Amino acid sequence: MNFPKPRKWLGQHFLTDPRILGRIADVLEITDADTVVEIGPGRGALTEQLLTRAKRVVAIEIDRDLAKLLREKHDGDERVTIIESDVLDVNLGEAAGGPYLVAGNVPYNITTPILFHALEHVRATRAVYLVQREVAERVVAEAASENYGALSANVQALATAELVFKVAAGAFTPPPKVESAVLRIVPRADPLIAPSEEAAYRAMVVGSFGFRRKQMQRVIRELWDLGAEPAAEILARAKIDPAARPEVLNPSDFARLLRSRATRPD
Ligand code: SAM
Repeated sequence: MNFPKPRKWLGQHFLTDPRILGRIADVLEITDADTVVEIGPGRGALTEQLLTRAKRVVAIEIDRDLAKLLREKHDGDERVTIIESDVLDVNLGEAAGGPYLVAGNVPYNITTPILFHALEHVRATRAVYLVQREVAERVVAEAASENYGALSANVQALATAELVFKVAAGAFTPPPKVESAVLRIVPRADPLIAPSEEAAYRAMVVGSFGFRRKQMQRVIRELWDLGAEPAAEILARAKIDPAARPEVLNPSDFARLLRSRATRPD
């Protein structure tokens, strides 16, 4: 098949090794009852692996030429739906029409918005992404470890995340400048925050890591424009050491902090 030249600005690095593609599909633990939403199918190599395992694949591709090629390739196959769109504009639950899994070798410049997009309601049952290795390491990092930051605390409040295996740059055409890794994300049955708290939680976490070197007593004073006394009260109620720095707070600590502020007596 004649493919158009890879478009760099769309993060087009294509995987061709069937062994790696098969392993990615295996990590998703697909059954023949599952609908898989694929993000960025590109030339359709991962799509083929998904189709050997799933009931249906809904593939969302922004590139008009590639979407057309995929439509032609799967013409007449009722198990395949190709949606030509920016994935961030698609309600994944509606596109799937029911419970769904997510798979994608995703464009690296929009990895974070994509991860959170699939954690919106209705959440994917499981998701497997091929992402920049450094991003995968940040997502799975534990509090107080080198790679821990806002991305870790924000994802882990809603889901468990695992770096399953790494993929060398040479496996892609054209090779990207960085190493990649397969990241598996499973929404928690007991999310640490409710949907109505998500925006405030994320703002607090991102804001806190903006003051990475400061102690929490200073961080929340700056973040929420508080005096010393109310800040100390909020931290005491949340059982957080006022001298702790944001990088040692785990997602549960941040969730308690948010609630402690919300329930502050006036
Ligand atoms: N899945 C293919 C593979 O493994 O070879 C292609 C992966 S390539 C890294 C990323 C794909 O995502 C490209 O096909 C690109 O056109 C597509 N893409 C980029 N931005 C997108 C967006 N906002 N929404 C949907 N697809 C997008």
